[in-house]
Amino acid sequence: MCNFAELPKTAHLIEVGPRDGLQSEPDFFPTAAKIEMIRRAVRAGIREIEATSFVHPKRVPQMQDAAEVIQTILPELPPEVEIIALVPNEKGFERAVAAGLRKVRLVLTASQTFHRKNFNQSIEETQAEFAQVFARGKAAGVNCVGIIAASWGCPYEGRVAVEQPLRLAEGLEQAGATEIFFADTTGMAVPTTVYRLLQEAVARLSVPVGVHFHNTRSTGYANVVAALQAGVNRFDTSLGGLGGCPFAPRATGNIATEDTAHMLNEMRIETGTSLEQLISTVTWLEASMGKKLPGQLAKAGPAFL
Ligand code: ZN
Repeated sequence: MCNFAELPKTAHLIEVGPRDGLQSEPDFFPTAAKIEMIRRAVRAGIREIEATSFVHPKRVPQMQDAAEVIQTILPELPPEVEIIALVPNEKGFERAVAAGLRKVRLVLTASQTFHRKNFNQSIEETQAEFAQVFARGKAAGVNCVGIIAASWGCPYEGRVAVEQPLRLAEGLEQAGATEIFFADTTGMAVPTTVYRLLQEAVARLSVPVGVHFHNTRSTGYANVVAALQAGVNRFDTSLGGLGGCPFAPRATGNIATEDTAHMLNEMRIETGTSLEQLISTVTWLEASMGKKLPGQLAKAGPAFL
């Protein structure tokens, strides 16, 4: 039985809207608007932002302005704000570091079929390539975060045995990952499976553990609580719940930054964010994109002012 008094007292929210959120948008979101989105997130108290992906521009045209976004935003941010990016390979790593980044994210997938769809190669082939990236990261003082996609389920292979993401996580840690994130890319996790995997992960890994939940089947926020119960307090979230995955069929919605912040605030878990600023940013984002986003807080308002 969980004693709520024993939950972590703080939580770290990583805003992934500018990358994960926008990646699946068919229309190009202007570079200036991406930069404004990052500025507004920072103003709202977010201290880590996944700003872009150094993927091949032909593969994900939305991210073709990666270097420009990073080079514009980096000089104007306070030192406590970390800007990070996804890199799919060594070439992406080189581009990210050349743009000035000191922290990057590398993704493996917990199922072979899904991994092939994402990377066009086997998990083992990507692991071999990542070994080079980790070595270069270590030499250059660039932190490399390992992410394991589809940790709780795969749209092609179904249930994923708990040992599979754990084994990959241990491999990433040995290779030099400075943090490990488990991602429920297509919203297949529930609180019990979240707790089971994370409890093991926290026991076995010595680097910080984080999570990336999607609210595809409305379990995202319950999963946040289960993660807290396992002692994990680093959460990827996106403003408005923007996002999906272009390589995963019917994968909708990251958990929304403002909804997560509101829940955590009310649970007396400090996030350092301003709900008012988060909501005004979502309102701005909806106007900029010309559509409503799935997050609820901007519609309902905070429970208590
Ligand atoms: Zn996501």
